[in-house]
This record gives sequence, C-alpha cells and structure tokens, in this order.
Amino acid sequence: MHRQTLRGLYDGLSRGDFSSRELTEALLGRIEAHGATLNAFITVTAESALLQADLADKARANGTGGPLNGLPIVHKDLFCTKGVLTTCGSKILGDFVSPYDATVVQRMADAGAVMLGKTNMDEFAMGSSNETSFYGPVTNPWNTKLSPGGSSGGSAAAVAARLVPAATGTDTGGSIRQPAALTGIVGLKPTYGRVSRYGMVAFASSLDQAGVITRSAEDAALLLGVMAGLDKRDSTSADHPVPDYVAGLSKPVKGLKIGVVRQHFDEGLDASCAERVRASLAALEDAGASLVEIDLPSIGLSVPTYYVVAPAECSSNLSRFDGVRFGHRCGDPEDLSDLYCRSRGEGFGAEVKRRIMTGTYVLSAGYYDAYYLKAQKVRQLISRDFKNAFEKVDVIAGPTAPTTAFAIGEKTDDPITMYLNDIYTIGANLAGLPGISVPCGFADGLPVGLQLVGPHFAEETILACAHQYQQLTDWHTEGPEDFA
Ligand code: GLN
Repeated sequence: MHRQTLRGLYDGLSRGDFSSRELTEALLGRIEAHGATLNAFITVTAESALLQADLADKARANGTGGPLNGLPIVHKDLFCTKGVLTTCGSKILGDFVSPYDATVVQRMADAGAVMLGKTNMDEFAMGSSNETSFYGPVTNPWNTKLSPGGSSGGSAAAVAARLVPAATGTDTGGSIRQPAALTGIVGLKPTYGRVSRYGMVAFASSLDQAGVITRSAEDAALLLGVMAGLDKRDSTSADHPVPDYVAGLSKPVKGLKIGVVRQHFDEGLDASCAERVRASLAALEDAGASLVEIDLPSIGLSVPTYYVVAPAECSSNLSRFDGVRFGHRCGDPEDLSDLYCRSRGEGFGAEVKRRIMTGTYVLSAGYYDAYYLKAQKVRQLISRDFKNAFEKVDVIAGPTAPTTAFAIGEKTDDPITMYLNDIYTIGANLAGLPGISVPCGFADGLPVGLQLVGPHFAEETILACAHQYQQLTDWHTEGPEDFA
C-alpha cells in the first residue's frame, strides 16, 4: 500500500481492497519504524488519525465521502492545526497548541483527508537543509548522512521514504521545490494568492505560499484543486476561478514553447545535474515541445534581493513573539525589557536571529532607501524579466537546485553558500509565479529535479507538462532502497 500514489490509494479504497483504517495503521507503523532514522515528524497524531479514518470508512460506505476521503496526509508544522502542537520548528512555539485550523488544513479535512501528523522543518521556514530546526535535522532517505533540503525537509523525507503519499509544504524562496528535488519527488508551489495563507505562521508575507509535496504531478493536481481558491480570511488570496487541474493533465506537450534560461546553465550548476536537466528537456522536445533560449537579465540579483526583502518582512512578522502574547516566556523576568530580551533570546535559534537583525537593519531609517527600497525596485525588474519571457514562451524549464543533496553539516558554517541553494527557485517567489519540481534522473545515485515555472495562475500548464513528462519517463516511480 505504502508505495502507491494518492490516486492509486483512492482507487484501492473505492474498490474495497483495503479500508482507510488499514491504510492508516500501516502508514503509522512505518512512521514509527523509521521515525528515529529520519526525524521527519515533530508530532504524530495517531489517535485522531484512526478516528478520522473510521469516519472516512463510514462515509465511503454511505457514498458520501469527499475527493480525498480516507487518504492520508501530513502537514508541515507551520500550518495551524486545531488542538495539535504547531511549533514551526521553533522553541519559541514549543508548547503552542493552535486554537484553529489553517484554511489549507480545513479544506483537506473537509475533503476527507486523514491527518497523520506534523512534519519537521527549518525554524520558521528559514533554511535550505532542515538543520535550523529546534527539533534536530531531518535526514535524506536516499542517504541518511545527507540533508533532504529545506525548509519543508520533514514533508519531503516522509513522502520520499514512502511513509506517506503526500504532504503540505510552504515555499517562500524554494522550500517546497528544493527539498522535492533533493529527495526525488514532486513539489508544487502555486501562484502567490492561489492558496490561502490563513493559519500559516508568517515568515515573509509577500513571498510565502502553501503548496504540496507528492510523488506524481497527478496527485499534486488533485490536492491543489482542493486547496486553491478565494478565502475571505486572507485578503491576498485571489478571486480567480479554480479549474479542474486533474482534467487539465491530458493536455499534450506538443506545440508547447519551453523557455530555457541562458543564465541557468552557468558555472554554478553541477555538471552531472546539468546533463540530467538537458536530457529531460530533450525528452520534452522529442515529444513535440519546442525549446526556446531566453534571457532573464536581472535573475542574477534574485538571491541578494530576496535576502533583503525576506528578512525585512520576517523582522516585522516575528515581532509578535514577545513572551507575552505567544510562546516561550523566560523565567523570573526583572522587568518588561528583560522579559522581551530573554524570551526572544532563549526562544529563537541563530539563523532566525540573523534574519531578524538583518531585516531590522535594512528597514532602519538610515538604510531603508539604500537597501529595502532598492531591493523592491530590483524585484520589479525581475518580475518584468519573467513577464517579457512569457510573451515568448509558455513555460520556463531548468534545474531546481545547483547540486544534488549535500551532507548534513556541510554548509552550516557558511550562510551564503546555503543561501545559494535557492538560486533557481527564488525568482518565482519574487515574481509570485507558480513552479513545480519533478524528478528527472540521478547523478551519482542521488535524485535531480527539473523545475517548470509558468505565468501567474498557469498551474494547469506546468502540471500538464510535468504529468506528460512523467508519462514519458519513470524517474518518479523510483524510491530509496532502504525504505522500500
Ligand atoms: N531557503 C530560503 C530561506 O532560507 C527559502 C526558505 C523558504 O522557502 N521557506 O529563506
């Protein structure tokens, strides 16, 4: 059962091959067996999962279940889940039990999904390796000495190791697509505003977006259809029709114009990854797509731009964690200032502190124009580059990450090298565009990801292209042997 996709499991449940309770019990068993090795979970909600599974089985028997009835899912520990610990990977939220569900969580539950737990992540989603988590690093199922990427590393490791068929994630600069690439699975970051951010712990509000991590593009389409759409509780959620993403998958790649960015294949890209990405582009070309070389002249500025904008927004968002209203409070404060300083000092980890300090600096009166305002202007240039490109092409394809998975500890002393991991993903966040990473082969036995980016609200196009690619190849069916 555990090797099947959501689609396969849905069919199995419908045929009565197994019940949702049997499926849930089997997966909870795998989560327990591999828990210590992977550290992919912060909380496992076994008891409520079994209750939900029983309800789903009853609904199926009555013919009333929703589109995800009885299907297992896990949520990144950044999504608020009613009555369940929601830590965001931080000590400061170490005992925060949310009083409400995030819209994404609510919509999945309404559709009948069974939540098995909450996954480990970089603290406040700041990181590319899952090493900034207060709950310890997650390991990569392909080689447990390596990082699964981040910040949705727990979600990615759980799906890659076949502990669950699907998970939610969030992507502010690459945190769905990069870990999906490094663990050989599918990661979809929708258009900014496509999915409600209500109930997501905020990192950088103009960049954050919820999405999914699955093993097939088809499963990603299924979940996006459930999650997407206007939510009155998030004023940035878009009032834009939600198409039938699954029906849209049959659109052939024949005639599709695929942009290949010249700047994506420079010396920063590992040669064996480049070779795999080029081979996947050739496969799409053979299937009838045309490859068009394009330029994104300002894309080289995306990492520095992001590392001004994201810390600025984070310094503001994280000011709510003050030891009074939320989260960790230090013991025996002398006065209010001591309460703030020690609660935050004890509650946040080093990377989060670094971001808060950088963000406060770039927003300060003397430096606002020089850094923050300038970064906003460059952000516009980057958006314009994409807009110009999409006048010529339907999708942009290239690498998701510059290398395959790296060793745990390898980049922790050098934040800049760590930040460069998102060099190919951050542009889509700055411009608010949808992107997906799909497995496209192996380099030295480790998975490589192909990224497809589309115009605003063109999830249908990138999902169809990804799905068609998965009909041509079977990279996505390969899993790590130790977790077979
Ligand atoms: N790695 C990037 C960062 O640390 C992106 C994180 C994310 O997408 N949440 O900010």
